[in-house]
Amino acid sequence: MQLRLEGVSKTFEGIHALEDISISAEAPEFVCLLGPSGCGKTTLLRLIAGLTAPDTGRICLDDADLSHTPARERGFGIVFQAYSLFPNMTVAANIGYGLRIRGESAARIAARVGELLDLIQLPHLADRYPWQLSGGQQQRVALARAVAVEPKLLLLDEPLSALDAKVRVELRSEIRALQKRLGILTIMVTHDQEEALMLADRIVCMQKGRVAQVGTPQDLYHRPVSRFVADFMGISNLIDVKTAQAFAPALLADRQPNAGGIACVRPEDIVLTATGSGARIKSVQFLGNISRLTLDWPGGELIVEQPGETTLAPGTQVGVEFSPRKHAWVAAP
Ligand code: ADP
Ligand code: MG
Repeated sequence: MQLRLEGVSKTFEGIHALEDISISAEAPEFVCLLGPSGCGKTTLLRLIAGLTAPDTGRICLDDADLSHTPARERGFGIVFQAYSLFPNMTVAANIGYGLRIRGESAARIAARVGELLDLIQLPHLADRYPWQLSGGQQQRVALARAVAVEPKLLLLDEPLSALDAKVRVELRSEIRALQKRLGILTIMVTHDQEEALMLADRIVCMQKGRVAQVGTPQDLYHRPVSRFVADFMGISNLIDVKTAQAFAPALLADRQPNAGGIACVRPEDIVLTATGSGARIKSVQFLGNISRLTLDWPGGELIVEQPGETTLAPGTQVGVEFSPRKHAWVAAP
């Protein structure tokens, strides 16, 4: 089962929300649409769902062109950010809704709802109403409702972003486990790069209505193709060729200086040596599992991360070591 978007564009009142998007995804992939607010993620998801029509381009599922098929007939499972359950229906009725409008028998619906309640680990809450549930429980029920009719495609629009941090992280793992178990092609929108890194088989990183890069989490984190992707995927030290020549020649081991570009070095890939004197520690942030150090370095400011609590204090002189091959070169602009 393959979903394919070919040259899809969408304009709202003269503003290009999406421009010439061509991507494909194949079951049982988990694909994240990642990008800052306003870059077109929701619009793209709505186009796939059939809730919005593209101006140009095609949306295909295997050999079928779905571009003009209404949402109802596409029958994809959809979960939105929050509050999408029917408030006047119990958990069981919410989950069974799709099966009921399909005309399934009461016995078949009860069996399937029971199965799904077990899957989302809420068998004891069948008779509750949405307002009696926590946010995390509501999103679990919304997921169960979305997959109840065994859709070919599961579409999730920031389903975790309204939840508090701890629940969000728990539910991430649960979504991934559920998706793996069902083997269902899933497209999820998120603006949270950590969420995309953890969940996705592949990430589609978007910038102003266009695809900036498509690849595995490792590709986007370690081999970003542009400054935008490098920045969006986490903290990066961006060092141009001239600065590298002067202060970090190790970065140029795999690069002709005349090739230009900017080296993207992740903060955990810089090693500090206590004996050197190339830089001075400006500030230290303790973040629990890591310490983040900001350094004054002749080539500019550097961000360095070390596991655990660092022993280095602000004001300390340190040496800076760049390891060859632990960086990516991106285009200069
Ligand atoms: P994201 O989900 O990445 O935050 P959206 O897809 O919601 O972004 O929006 C992309 C762009 O399209 C934004 O500039 C937004 O204002 C605009 N947009 C989205 N939906 C509409 C609409 N129904 N009418 C007018 N403009 C819209
Ligand atoms: Mg959105």
